[in-house]
Amino acid sequence: MSSPESSRAPVSAGRLGADGEGVSERLGTHRQLLSRLTRSEALTGRDIDAGYAQVTELMTTLLRVERGSVWRFDASGSQLQCVDLFEWTERRHSSGAVLTSELVPSYFRALSQNRCIAAHDAATDLATRELAEPYLAPLGIGAILDAPIWVGGRMVGVVCHEHVGGPRRWQFEEELLAGTMADFVARVIEAADRLRAEHTLGQYRDHVDELTRVEQSLRRSGENLRIVLGAAPVALVLTRLKDQHVVLANERCAALFGVPLEEVVGQRTRDYYAVPEERDRMVEQLLARGYLDSHLVKLKKRGGEEFWAEISGRIVELDGQRCSLVGVHDVTAQKNLEEQLRELATRDSLTGAANRRHFVELLERERGRCQRSGGKLSLCMLDADHFKRVNDGYGHVAGDHVLQAIAAAAQSQLRTADVLGRLGGEEFGILLPDTDLRGAAVLAERVRAAVARARVPSGDAREIEVTISIGVAQLQGDEPFESLLQRADRALYVAKDRGRNCVQS
Ligand code: GH3
Ligand code: MG
Ligand code: MG
Repeated sequence: MSSPESSRAPVSAGRLGADGEGVSERLGTHRQLLSRLTRSEALTGRDIDAGYAQVTELMTTLLRVERGSVWRFDASGSQLQCVDLFEWTERRHSSGAVLTSELVPSYFRALSQNRCIAAHDAATDLATRELAEPYLAPLGIGAILDAPIWVGGRMVGVVCHEHVGGPRRWQFEEELLAGTMADFVARVIEAADRLRAEHTLGQYRDHVDELTRVEQSLRRSGENLRIVLGAAPVALVLTRLKDQHVVLANERCAALFGVPLEEVVGQRTRDYYAVPEERDRMVEQLLARGYLDSHLVKLKKRGGEEFWAEISGRIVELDGQRCSLVGVHDVTAQKNLEEQLRELATRDSLTGAANRRHFVELLERERGRCQRSGGKLSLCMLDADHFKRVNDGYGHVAGDHVLQAIAAAAQSQLRTADVLGRLGGEEFGILLPDTDLRGAAVLAERVRAAVARARVPSGDAREIEVTISIGVAQLQGDEPFESLLQRADRALYVAKDRGRNCVQS
């Protein structure tokens, strides 16, 4: 992937898009590059190193930084290792650098507590200043924009954008982009993990096939069959089709269903399906095709506990009777993980608000709907006032409780259609469909007052009070959502300048 020199405009100085190139022009480039990545081989997970390399190159282009890198945590989570670094000027890839939590504890902590670390001046920022001597100074890095990579509820790495030279103010949409890059890498990692899991599942299917062959050659020998099933690494059950009674099952199968092995023979398999008719459908398919592969079904243990299973089956003949040989693979953990991933993909775990990515998606969708129908749409940006003092005075845990209280107080004032999102550390957004600027300002004032009324226990008999500042903007004409976000953000900073604890529209 190459990046034309001209696309690297000088770094802007304002907090938000006050630069020469034009936000929409830049966003157009972003979209093109991101959609190219979406379609690329990198996301199939087949060659994970190529995926990393593609992402780091794109990172340097999109955020116009000298160095883009992806780092992975080791199993203990105490060490980060660089899996790919791309240096833009040299157009060079490298890997292998290591950072440990012992060396840079605050940085590790900040990663786990923030959606994104935007260190405008990395040498003095609390999250990154301990990197100054061992890392930043020798490489001439002045500003850092890092986003943790989350997969399956676990932080597995980080994407790092490093600006070489003096400090640099990261713009809001750049912080969003950093998160998007982290999400891309998460998908590359997920895809690679999925491929590994499919490989295991394939081996399991092969095993059922192999057993069918063995069984055919041992048709008359029940004893040998028992030995073969017993040695199998999966739960297997042989059932007579005529009356659905179990003829034979291995220990793994008995354990999975909570039935003592000596009681397995003679059980009715139908009783172990959460929906017994599912068993009939499964047998129908098995008979029609002669096989069944990776059929997802809800089964039931003897005690009544239900679980998700993937079953594969073959028709075999034993002593002249038609039987089904079925392998059962408990996939409950996988299903739960999928569910958690879905939750994770849309919700902020601390406050229950929509997470930044989901919020932006909803905002973009609502903007399209609104512009098609000529409706109104407003946006509020909230930022806790002097939140550093809360953390410094009461500790980070109390700070987290305050964030939860802010979200709850804001939520208590919203209608069902309104959406609260956590956009970053102590920054929230409220999406207000069918609401004009005046209505939004009224609601924002109610939210401000509700937060100001809230009292949060500090854990040591004190009560914490907190205020927020709010910027409000209404969608205009066919402006892109990024520009709406920017206008609300600018209003927020006017509210801060006016002395905080107020609403600016
Ligand atoms: P201002 O009124 O100008 O907004 O002042 P501020 O102190 O709130 O300044 P700023 O917005 O720069 O600081 C935000 C602080 O919020 C810094 C960071 O340590 C803290 N923070 C960010 N995310 C979290 C979090 O998840 N939990 C806690 N407890 N603190 C967080
Ligand atoms: Mg603040
Ligand atoms: Mg803030």
